[in-house]
Amino acid sequence: MTKVKIQSLSGMRDILPEDQVYFKRVQKAVESISHYYNFNRIDTPILEQAELFIKGTGADTDVVSKEMYSFRTKGGDLVVLRPEFTPSIVRSYIENGMYNLPQPVKLWTTGPLFRHERPQAGRYRQFFQFDLEVLGDKSPSIDGQIIQMTYDILKDLSFKNITIEVNSIGDSECRPYFKKILTAYFRSKKSSLCSDCQRRLKENPLRILDCKEEKCQQVKSGAPQIIDHLCEGCHAHFKQVLEFLDELELPYTLNPYLVRGLDYYTKTVFEIVEKSEDGLSQGALAGGGRYDNLVKLLGGRDTPAMGAAGGIDRIINILKTREAKPDKKQEKTNIFLAQLGQSGKRKSMKLFEEFRQAKIPVAESFSKDSLRSQLNSANKMGVKWVLIFGQKEALEDFITLRDMETGVQVEIPLDKVVEEMKQKINKLK
Ligand code: AMP
Repeated sequence: MTKVKIQSLSGMRDILPEDQVYFKRVQKAVESISHYYNFNRIDTPILEQAELFIKGTGADTDVVSKEMYSFRTKGGDLVVLRPEFTPSIVRSYIENGMYNLPQPVKLWTTGPLFRHERPQAGRYRQFFQFDLEVLGDKSPSIDGQIIQMTYDILKDLSFKNITIEVNSIGDSECRPYFKKILTAYFRSKKSSLCSDCQRRLKENPLRILDCKEEKCQQVKSGAPQIIDHLCEGCHAHFKQVLEFLDELELPYTLNPYLVRGLDYYTKTVFEIVEKSEDGLSQGALAGGGRYDNLVKLLGGRDTPAMGAAGGIDRIINILKTREAKPDKKQEKTNIFLAQLGQSGKRKSMKLFEEFRQAKIPVAESFSKDSLRSQLNSANKMGVKWVLIFGQKEALEDFITLRDMETGVQVEIPLDKVVEEMKQKINKLK
């Protein structure tokens, strides 16, 4: 029989115990800034109807047309592993009648997303994002707030050389005309475009601006800029967003070719990138924009909205190359609970739970039977006290307390032990 080697799937990976501390740190930064700005946490299911993203994200986007994990259930439904958060959150906003709440509704989340991308450094097929969304407010100040929060989260995580790239991609009033002149420009350069972009020319010329192919980048550098063709409303909105960024003293640059590859964006789009020593961009850490038509498109009322998402994996990969492992910051354990014999073990498990309820950290080694090896473990941990729970102690309901520094042992009645240890620990503080 051939041996089958079972491995994780390509582009999927384990987050090992030693990396959890980084995930926790990012989670904490997102959580604390979200709470400060009065955002509430939401969690949506990983599995959704395929239609949500086909309609919401856009059928001809790379994320949907090439990268979505989709399958039919036994019941015949076409479902997908979510490739991004925004459409799910919009679905939830509509489905749960959140338009009846005071507006705007401010939500945040973190979790795994799935895209069947070509595996490469820093790109995974299951990856993690944090996400911020504000629904029900068209004011440019919300664009400013979302950009500021995303920037603050990265700053909080000690990113220094970060800048915000910002652009406006207009709305249904001005974008159609811009698309026409963009198509005319790219058509005149068609032979210099990659085959994907030749196809995009028919479907959506804006997407060519997103192409990473060298030859398309060159053609792009001479393309007309949407900023010169915004309608009055979009122009005024963008001007105010920039004024907010100025006021907030956020470092930004205008990137007239930033479009972001999803269908639903209107007006403001932005990305936060880190510049390396040589000034080159390392790729986006986070990005987002306004999506004033998406709620309506997915069956809700006309509701303006703005959001952002950050790539947790990319953030962590950079943090790891840069700094020593963050402290686990666990409260120091000063007590070791040692046990002998069956009844000693049983009763000490109960006592261990009492310590947990009293929020006193206690180390143990219930799997070990010999007192000597348990004392060895206690020694290695450098605890101050060992509580010994043997046969005699279990029978007579007391415990032996050994001071590891002096070697002095005293007996304490079982019902007093938690209280007495609490006092001893308080004296240490
Ligand atoms: P997007 O949702 O495509 O705008 O991506 C937002 C951020 O998520 C990006 O800037 C990346 O940092 C991160 N990201 C997107 N796709 C992946 C992936 N396949 N693997 C790891 N991170 C990703």
